[in-house]
Amino acid sequence: MPLTRLIYVSTLSKSCDSVALKDILHKSREHNITSKITGLLSHNEKYFMQCLEGSREEINRTYNYIVNDPRHSKVTIVYFEEIHSRQFGDWSMGDVPQSHLTSLLNLQFSGSDEFKPYDLTGQSAYLMLLELKQHLPSE
Ligand code: FAD
Repeated sequence: MPLTRLIYVSTLSKSCDSVALKDILHKSREHNITSKITGLLSHNEKYFMQCLEGSREEINRTYNYIVNDPRHSKVTIVYFEEIHSRQFGDWSMGDVPQSHLTSLLNLQFSGSDEFKPYDLTGQSAYLMLLELKQHLPSE
């Protein structure tokens, strides 16, 4: 089964607080280890941007769970490709804290110094996540 990478962006629901975020990360890591999925989840108080890497079958299955999760809405795929190797293999689901989404980084990849993931091209979203991973410890 081909290896794939998918990046989507979404909007946090009102009910998505820090407790919900902890649950999302806990469940993601649990399921992703079994499914051999790796990736990063970045977020601020408004938006999520997540990268998932793994077999096409597992990525599709997991994405279908994610897209139906009421803790977010307007789930939009911005990037999908078949890949030769993983870039986020060190994380079953790395958590990129809001503090890492600096004005400088946002300006580097978008027309704004705010984190506005719906405005990113797929390539910019991917490059931004690659930049963010440099500052994350392995799990
Ligand atoms: P329940 O809702 O209790 O479902 C019952 C059964 O369904 C489970 O016991 C299990 O057998 C099966 N099941 C449900 N989800 C999965 C799954 N993903 N894989 C295998 N079996 C499953 N979830 C992830 O797994 N990986 C992610 O990377 C991920 N990222 C998320 C990012 C965001 C922004 C949000 C909002 C959610 C994310 N989730 C992710 C959570 C996902 O949307 C579901 O909430 C989660 O998969 C439900 O798991 P559960 O064990 O509570 O299943």
